[in-house]
Amino acid sequence: MATAIITGSARGIGAAIALRLAKDGYDIALNDISEGMFENNDIMDKIKAEGVQCEKYIADVSSHADCENLVKAVKERFGSIDVLVNNAGITRDGLMMRMAEDVYDLVISVNQKSVFNMTKFAGAVMMKQKSGRIINLSSVAGLYGNAGQMNYSASKAAIIGMTKTTAKELGSRGITCNAVAPGFIQTPMTDKLTEEQKKAILNMIAMKRYGQVEEIAGVVSFLASKDASYVTGQVIEISGGLSM
Ligand code: NAD
Repeated sequence: MATAIITGSARGIGAAIALRLAKDGYDIALNDISEGMFENNDIMDKIKAEGVQCEKYIADVSSHADCENLVKAVKERFGSIDVLVNNAGITRDGLMMRMAEDVYDLVISVNQKSVFNMTKFAGAVMMKQKSGRIINLSSVAGLYGNAGQMNYSASKAAIIGMTKTTAKELGSRGITCNAVAPGFIQTPMTDKLTEEQKKAILNMIAMKRYGQVEEIAGVVSFLASKDASYVTGQVIEISGGLSM
């Protein structure tokens, strides 16, 4: 049985990806920052109902040491790491002129450094296996920028460079690395937007609706599948036609 690790997967897009990969037949290693994220939450039950193994691992993916321990624990429990989805991410929005240094650093650390941490440790396991799939969550904010998101857009643009670098460094070992760049997807992250912001966003989207988490999970499933075996270093925008 193949195994997938999805970071930040107690809720939102990460949970949808975990459930979709369980439906695809992967054993699932869930991760989130605290036990509390899994309270009043049926994601583990839903995954086990698909007939696969599922464990949860508490780790802060911005910590190099936590990621090393996380990858070690998953490898020991499941025997292989076949898919890594770098999904964990946060927003701390504000106009650049008023953004405090620690707010900038926090978002870079959680969104961007985590990708280095997890790719380094899980990539080492995949190199030995001579196979693996790494899928990173970028964002349209990384492709086009977004006022009020200097920190977030920097981290999501960096992930695109990191995706291409990983594809080039690990490609000869049978490992692919791609990114998806979601537009506005209905999750707790976007629920925080004001009504005015939501209206302005819908106006820019060709399909005139937000995306659903399952619509991200479907593309991640494709990138993890055999059908995507010759796709690497690519960024797939999933935005309902936000910018064309
Ligand atoms: P979310 O806030 O619903 O879920 C993110 C999860 O990551 C949470 O469960 C959170 O606890 C976890 N997390 C945060 N910091 C962590 C850490 N240090 N270690 C481990 N886990 C941590 O967000 P979402 O909307 O599901 O977003 C998932 C990913 O998709 C993020 O990378 C986000 O930037 C990206 N994205 C989302 C949208 C959107 O519209 N929702 C658009 C583009 C990109």
